[in-house]
Amino acid sequence: VVGYLAILFAVSAQFPENIDRTAELIQWLSFTLLTTGFAFMAGEISVIRHELERRNRQNRIARARMEELAIKDELTQLYNRRHAMELLRQHKGMADRGAYRFAVCYVDLDHFKQINDTFGHQAGDVVLKRFAQTALQVVSGVDHVARLGGEEFVVVIVKTDEAAALALAERLRVAVAAIDFTDVAAGLKVSASLGLTMYSPQEKPEALLSRADEALYRSKQGGRNRVTVIEAGVQP
Ligand code: GH3
Ligand code: MG
Ligand code: MG
Repeated sequence: VVGYLAILFAVSAQFPENIDRTAELIQWLSFTLLTTGFAFMAGEISVIRHELERRNRQNRIARARMEELAIKDELTQLYNRRHAMELLRQHKGMADRGAYRFAVCYVDLDHFKQINDTFGHQAGDVVLKRFAQTALQVVSGVDHVARLGGEEFVVVIVKTDEAAALALAERLRVAVAAIDFTDVAAGLKVSASLGLTMYSPQEKPEALLSRADEALYRSKQGGRNRVTVIEAGVQP
């Protein structure tokens, strides 16, 4: 705009007889108005673009949070039952293709009702949370821990064999029995019973879980605070 005005002045100074000052001034004014208008619009568009980017960012965060909520158990922050089943289906897919083997370990806290009755429901909740922390510490990064409900959990032990899975289940049992609850209540001790089994190719996740559940039942029958293994393919 300023350049245009400078040229107008230069031309009218050099060739005053060849120039219609009023017409040129009107043209310059129109040009100035249009240019300012465009500059203003471009500014507005840029503001809108930034606002959109900000909202998209917020949406991404909200969506990630919702996805997290949909797969996690609120109390323990472990995966919930639905996601546990989804994980089993995924690993079944890989195992059926021969990529690797995996095991499931059903875990149930012993005499949990009694713990609630003796020490209170809140103490029970602390037990569940501390169990969750302990289980996550014991398993490796590729394994999963989920809360199926109440005081029942499942550990999906990925890329493993019978011996390694049993060693992990045994480590978990020992770790649970060693959790310190003296800050919660004097005399509060917790143990867990575990049922372990390897996935047998082509079987349904439900069949796998029910075999693990049967192994767990045998641990309860055998006196609790122990691991029972049922071999893959064996119909309990
Ligand atoms: P067993 O050794 O045979 O497994 O006995 P148990 O007492 O652990 O088993 P039972 O199924 O009789 O009791 C489970 C209890 O878990 C009953 C229920 O009140 C309690 N429970 C379930 N969900 C929660 C929870 O979110 N918080 C607390 N504090 N307790 C819960
Ligand atoms: Mg129990
Ligand atoms: Mg139970």
